[in-house]
Amino acid sequence: MRFKYCPDCGERLIIKPIGDEGDVPFCEKCGCPWFDMFSSAVIVLVVNEYGEAALLRQNYMSTEYRVLVSGFIKPGESAEETARREVAEEIGIEFDNCRLIGTYWFAKKGMMMIGFIARAEKADLTISGEVDSAEWVPVENAINMVHGKGSVSYELLDEYLKRSVSERFIEEVRSIKWFKNSGKPCDKYLLVRSIYDAYDNWNANYLSVWEPQICFLEKLAEKMIGDDAADDIFETVSMALDKDIWNEWQSFRARGGLEEENALDEEIADMVKRDLCWAAVEKALNITGFFTALLEIYQDGYLPCGWEGDFPNGRAAVI
Ligand SMILES: [Zn+2]
Repeated sequence: MRFKYCPDCGERLIIKPIGDEGDVPFCEKCGCPWFDMFSSAVIVLVVNEYGEAALLRQNYMSTEYRVLVSGFIKPGESAEETARREVAEEIGIEFDNCRLIGTYWFAKKGMMMIGFIARAEKADLTISGEVDSAEWVPVENAINMVHGKGSVSYELLDEYLKRSVSERFIEEVRSIKWFKNSGKPCDKYLLVRSIYDAYDNWNANYLSVWEPQICFLEKLAEKMIGDDAADDIFETVSMALDKDIWNEWQSFRARGGLEEENALDEEIADMVKRDLCWAAVEKALNITGFFTALLEIYQDGYLPCGWEGDFPNGRAAVI
């Protein structure tokens, strides 16, 4: 909203250049600028422990689409306090913590929307007079019941789905007994004696298998989930696994006969993390490709470090 008259004295405002702000409505009588004003609201995706979202029907907003809990910020409140208050008022749910996901400019209403995801325990929803009905809906279905792509509701649900893929993936790989079978004989894979052996004999072929897989995945990820989502997976998964992988590799080296290879520790840790990030991207894309195959090798307790033949026909060289 742009002011035409001074809200204090009622004088018609002039336009005056104010520093970096440019031309701003200004009251000559009060000597004060009146910057454009807009309202701020929160929007909260409440998700329970079963991965269900609280969806509301508010006929005054839409009879076609469901909406998430939302409401205006009152002066003196933090956005988090508004989120907590609105969720309690509209659906009668209390939650411990919520995560800020992003801020969104809602052009249609000239409003700043602050988006949160809150985790709450499943309970009956007690609706306020402003809400016509409310129910828990699995997030996968909920995303098709709100305004489509571009709406803040959609963005929040989409974000939850993306994050839950990373979170589920991290949970899955946390249980891996890293390198527990390294050095032990095995028919499934080609065993190599050392990292140097792997580099000398298998690296060239490994790269020739690996590179087209990466190209294919990069393109597919860009199209299906977007670069930002893929970057987000890389960041989340690497950060979550960084310590585990480093420690496990160190303890493997301490118990195994690979002392001479400590110069490559960093490279190996990076390689493992990178493989896992790509495996997580494959999971997000719902495909089982090369990196899902590598993930299985890690789950079998070996370190893949080369490839014999092509993929998927050949087999991995492992330590
Ligand atoms: Zn004035």
